[in-house]
Amino acid sequence: MATVAKPTAPTRQIGTPPMVPRIAPREDLNPFRIAQIQFDMAAEFLKLDLGLRQILRTPKRVLEVSIPTKMDNGQVKVLTGYRVQHNVARGPAKGGVRFHPNLTLDEMKALAAGMTWKTATVNVPFGGAQGGVICDSKRMSKGELERITRRYASEILPLIGPYLDIPAPDVYTDAQTMAWMMDTYAMTVGHAAHGSVTGKPSSVGGSNGREEAMARGLVAVVEEACKLKKIALRGATVAIQGFGHSGATVAQVFAEKKAKIIALSDTRGGVTNSRGIDPIKAIRYKERSGTVVGMPGATRTTNDELLTMKCDILVPAALENVITLNNAEAIKARIVAEAANGPTTPHADEILARKGITVLPDILANAGGVTVSYFEWVQNQQGLIWDAEEVNARLQKTIVRAFHEMVETMRKHHVPPRAGAMILAVGRVAEATLVRGLFP
Ligand code: NAD
Repeated sequence: MATVAKPTAPTRQIGTPPMVPRIAPREDLNPFRIAQIQFDMAAEFLKLDLGLRQILRTPKRVLEVSIPTKMDNGQVKVLTGYRVQHNVARGPAKGGVRFHPNLTLDEMKALAAGMTWKTATVNVPFGGAQGGVICDSKRMSKGELERITRRYASEILPLIGPYLDIPAPDVYTDAQTMAWMMDTYAMTVGHAAHGSVTGKPSSVGGSNGREEAMARGLVAVVEEACKLKKIALRGATVAIQGFGHSGATVAQVFAEKKAKIIALSDTRGGVTNSRGIDPIKAIRYKERSGTVVGMPGATRTTNDELLTMKCDILVPAALENVITLNNAEAIKARIVAEAANGPTTPHADEILARKGITVLPDILANAGGVTVSYFEWVQNQQGLIWDAEEVNARLQKTIVRAFHEMVETMRKHHVPPRAGAMILAVGRVAEATLVRGLFP
């Protein structure tokens, strides 16, 4: 019979330290738990009572739907979609529709809550929602995307409408997606319903200025922050992670202000040039090749290098959790302006605050999109069409006022910008909830 050697314990030389496995400090990257941490902090400052805290930290409604779709090859695929409404105390729910292969329900809940705080920060009379479909939209044909969108809209139809919940574009959805959603809604209810979605094409009630609203709002907020930090925006260096719809329009508006775009990236990698990159040339190159990587006149870089590059303004404009415990210490920007939702974790926030880096939080920095969505809805409901100058002037006034209200709250409570914006927003929603009272 073969003998089996007994496993022996690893030997340790006397005098050497015990072999303690090094456990990397783990960060909780669950977006909904992060959203709740940020909420709890604001609730603590506001000394909200426990019952009210429970109402405000939980979504009001969550709907999961199956979306059977005929693909171009004749096969039927059943996709999963969600619509989450977080809070409607201040008005109808409002929020994006995301198509992404890694989308999760907790991400939808986090984005819906973020939307509640965002609409409250800029003081537009909406609540917060978010929805999406788990799908790899980049690999789908236009016909497949239309069928998915229409079936998704039909499945969530009981929850949406101009006075219920108004969807808007988000990652990998656009004005065309909104046109299909609006048409599906209008065909089902049997009358025109332009106010049922925002971010539509202008031919069907989309607002002038909506396409670049998020970017204009972000740059206006950065401009105000630059004044306080005594940074000249003209000539300031800007690095943008995520050159999609948001990233590309942000780059163009910064270029209008004569700031210098020194790096851009997308899922395939990034490019850099310390003398500046022309955003229009980058957009044209990306339209042809599907990426900014390889564009003439710029050197290749990685997304990780871009985030820790020396620059005045860093704009994360892709997805959540890109500035974390792993790289926050290495960030060298003077201002981080969050075009994306949830790009900075609470741990990273603390590190950046200690380093004196100003983080302009998503709920203010990217709120220009929902502000002009509100203007679009107002125009649709009243049958009006405002020109771009009027929309931009109203946006500027709304976002600059919100910035100064945030700064006032920061000074009152001695907190950084995200906490200031959250305290402002949670306070507004709490007040609306209390004055309405609990039904029944
Ligand atoms: P988009 O689909 O147009 O662009 C996303 C871009 O990010 C793409 O270029 C993609 O290549 C890039 N990207 C994705 N993963 C990446 C990664 N890991 N590293 C680097 N790049 C990556 O989407 P969008 O509408 O521009 O939205 C981007 C962010 O801005 C999202 O967080 C969204 O919620 C937020 N946002 C959008 C709006 C709006 O009006 N569209 C408004 C407010 C906030």
